[in-house]
Amino acid sequence: MEKHKAIDSPAASLIKARLPVLFLPLIFAASLAAQEAPALPPAGGGAYQVDSGPCLSAAQRTEIAARLAANTAALAREGKLPAVSRSVVQFDWPVQMAPGLGWNNLYTVRNFVDHEHIAGVREYECGQRTYDGHLGTDIDLWPYPWYQQENNLARVVAAAAGVIIGKDDGNQDESCSWDIGGAWNAVYIRHSDGSASWYGHLKRHSLTDKPVGASVAKGEYLGIAASSGYSTWPHLHFEAYRAEPFVHDNLIDPYWGECNFSNFESWWADQQPYRQPTVNAVLTHNAPPEIGCVQEENPHFSDYFTSGDMVYAAVYFRDQLQGMVTTLRIVMPNGAIWNEWAHVSPEDYVSSWWYWGMGLPAGGPFGTWSFEVTFNNETHAHAFEYAGLVGAVSAEAYPVAVFPNPARETLSIQGLAAQPALVEIYSPAGQLLLRQEPEGESISLSGLSPGLYLLKVMAGEAVYTSRFVKAD
Ligand SMILES: [Zn+2]
Repeated sequence: MEKHKAIDSPAASLIKARLPVLFLPLIFAASLAAQEAPALPPAGGGAYQVDSGPCLSAAQRTEIAARLAANTAALAREGKLPAVSRSVVQFDWPVQMAPGLGWNNLYTVRNFVDHEHIAGVREYECGQRTYDGHLGTDIDLWPYPWYQQENNLARVVAAAAGVIIGKDDGNQDESCSWDIGGAWNAVYIRHSDGSASWYGHLKRHSLTDKPVGASVAKGEYLGIAASSGYSTWPHLHFEAYRAEPFVHDNLIDPYWGECNFSNFESWWADQQPYRQPTVNAVLTHNAPPEIGCVQEENPHFSDYFTSGDMVYAAVYFRDQLQGMVTTLRIVMPNGAIWNEWAHVSPEDYVSSWWYWGMGLPAGGPFGTWSFEVTFNNETHAHAFEYAGLVGAVSAEAYPVAVFPNPARETLSIQGLAAQPALVEIYSPAGQLLLRQEPEGESISLSGLSPGLYLLKVMAGEAVYTSRFVKAD
């Protein structure tokens, strides 16, 4: 793919000067240098691909439309449905990231509305990013869609203000194949201009407490994106109609484009570009991350590493396009670059990921490291802690069982009561903070601020080491 030139990058020279022995892998990588940073083939990753198919069966659609018609008629009789206004509703984006996650973005858009009704498929930009007969927009959770679902990270919100005209809940939400199928969990909203929006595949029992007939504001919480009904992965199916009845003639595609024959202007207040190359997340792991259905998904997230550990540095993209260059670097606590490399996208992806495994230098430096990724003129960073022990660790050293981990006020050390032992706690940078000869199996952590610590237990001739986290 890319041309290799035998030149050292300035970063590589710097590291060689600082760490002449510890960084053989980098010298090897630098010998493959291309352009600015050396290209380094990833250890794994690629496209995150899922099968796409109908989000609702024809029978389900018919049932839903009939039920919503009955509901709106009843609500109108009760005076709970405002008369249709002449304003034109505009939609805000219906998925929001839960606060505190620390990712840059958690979705990608996979399937648009299909506007080709005879043969084949065609979406609003006249491309193929849809499937036959798709009537909505599929907003995929990415990366770690099942982790997102489990932890309520992708919040589905009302695209515009309106009245709830229907709710479906109580249906299983871990579909990985169409064989499971069944009814989805969903919320349906009628807007002031008579239009409506549907939010499907939601997580069971995550729906807003508000009943049918209640008003919701633009941006108000409706539920959690998940994989209920006909779905193979957690995503939001967003579907909209200009008016009742909710049948094909009234369908709108909120994206304006040359091949959108449903409506002639965008219904988005701020329409996103067709392709939006984005770094969704920059993460570190203590084992190769595993992507798959429900239990097959094992992120192996870790932000804490100790001497000699492997760090798996991974980057997750929305719309990574062929030929786009990503520059990745790992920066030491003093700000110097430890390793810098590049990746060139071999093709166009809707969602993609790549990871590299690297052995951290056994002798440090210890402290807060940073994994930084520059893509499409933006840099995203992810910090991780790298800790070592002061002095030589005995050859017999092996981890002792400590719990709970993360700990709060006390830490229990399994087997400590068997013989007298000396316990020491160090900061990640190796500073001795506490030395104790505990009476029982636990030591007090009061006085330690939240963070990562190293534990050294000396019992007779043996030296055991471990690490633990003190939680907030
Ligand atoms: Zn869909």
